[in-house]
Amino acid sequence: MIRLASPFIGEEDLQAVREVLESGRLVQGLKVAEFERAVSNYVGTKYAVAVSSCTAALHISLLTLGVQPGDLVVTTAYSWIATANVIELCGAYPIFVDICPDTFNIDSKCLKTTLGRLMGNPAIAKRVKAILPVHTFGQLSDMLEILRLAEYYNLPVVEDAACALGATALDATLEGQQAGTWGVMGCFSFHPRKAITTGEGGIVTTNDSRLAHILKALRNHGQDPESLSPDFIMPGFNYRMTEFQAAFGLAQMTKLDYIITTHRRLAANYDELLIGMPVQSPKVSEGSWPIYQSYVVLLPEYMLSRRQSIIEQLKRDGIETTIGTLNIPMTNYFRSRYGYQTNAFPVTDRVASRCLTLPLHCWLRENDQEKVVRYFNEAC
Ligand SMILES: *Cc1c(COP(=O)(O)O)cnc(C)c1O
Repeated sequence: MIRLASPFIGEEDLQAVREVLESGRLVQGLKVAEFERAVSNYVGTKYAVAVSSCTAALHISLLTLGVQPGDLVVTTAYSWIATANVIELCGAYPIFVDICPDTFNIDSKCLKTTLGRLMGNPAIAKRVKAILPVHTFGQLSDMLEILRLAEYYNLPVVEDAACALGATALDATLEGQQAGTWGVMGCFSFHPRKAITTGEGGIVTTNDSRLAHILKALRNHGQDPESLSPDFIMPGFNYRMTEFQAAFGLAQMTKLDYIITTHRRLAANYDELLIGMPVQSPKVSEGSWPIYQSYVVLLPEYMLSRRQSIIEQLKRDGIETTIGTLNIPMTNYFRSRYGYQTNAFPVTDRVASRCLTLPLHCWLRENDQEKVVRYFNEAC
C-alpha cells in the first residue's frame, strides 16, 4: 500500500521517548520548555506555548483575545473543521470567507468585502474580534493584504498554521518570514499528518509576553505561570503537552529541514509527472515557499462526479488518496445552524468537490510517485 501520509519516525525518536519514560517524569518537567524554545527559535518568535493539539491552541488563542459568546470571528470557508469549531466553542459565530481558486487560501478581496460590510455597521463592528486565516496545505495565505486590512480595522490576526511549520514568504523585503510570525498568535499542529509529529500536539507562537502569560494559564487550569506557590487567576483547561511528547517533538525538530526539503522535492517531481494530465497541480503564489504538507490537485469539472470512484479504484490499486479538506459551511452542523446554501461560497464549492490529495511523505520514493501517477491516469 502506498500510504497517503506516514510520519517520519526513527531510532532517535524512540530513544528520546524512552529516556523520558524511564525517568518517570512524564508531565510538567523541562522537556516541554525545551521544545517550546526549539520551535520559537525555528519559527522566529519570542515565545511558544505547547499544548495538547492545534485545536487546543486555536481555542485558547481566541479566548486569550477575549472572544466571548455573541462575538464574530472572520475565517475561511475551506479548512479542517477545527478552525470553525473553536469559534463556536467560544460561543462566537464564524463569518466565512470564500477562497482563491489557485492557492485554496482565503481570498483577500472577499475578505475586504466581508470586513467592509461588517465594520460599516457600528453595532456589528464591535462584536468582530479576530481574523483567522489558514495557511492551507502548508502555503502562506496572502498575509501582507490580510495584515493591511487587519490594521485598517484594528483587528488581531490569529494564524491557523496547523499545516505550515516552516512555510515561508520569499520576497525582497520579507525573506524568510515564516508562518506563525505574522499575526498576534500562530497555531501549529503536530498530528501525524503534519510536518513533524508528537502523536497529538500543538503549539502557539507569539511575540507578546502578555498573551503568552494568558495562554500558559489557560492550558494549565488557570494557574498563574509566574507564581511560585499555586495561584489560580482564571478558569482554565488541562491542555498540556506531556514530557514524552515534547521529547519526541525535539527529536522531530532536528529532522524538520530534511522533511520540508523532501516534501518540496517530491512535490516538484509530481508537478513534472502530472504534465499532460487534465488536472491542476498545486499553484504557488509569487513570493511564497510552501512546505507541501499535502499535495492536492484539482480535477477538471467533467471528472467531478467520478472523484469517489477514482479514490476507490486507486485504493484497489494499493494507493491511498483522499479529498482535500472541508467545505465547512456545507457540513451538517454549520449548514443547519446557519442555513447556508450551495453557492454561498462558490469557489469553495468548486474546489472542495474537485480536490484530490495524492500520497506525500518522507518514505515515498520516486518510483512510488510514478506508480501513483500511472494508476491515477488510468483511473481518470
Ligand atoms: C490539522 C488541522 C487542525 C487541527 O489540528 P489538531 O492538532 O489535530 O487539533 C486545525 N486546522 C487545520 C487547518 C488543520 O489542518
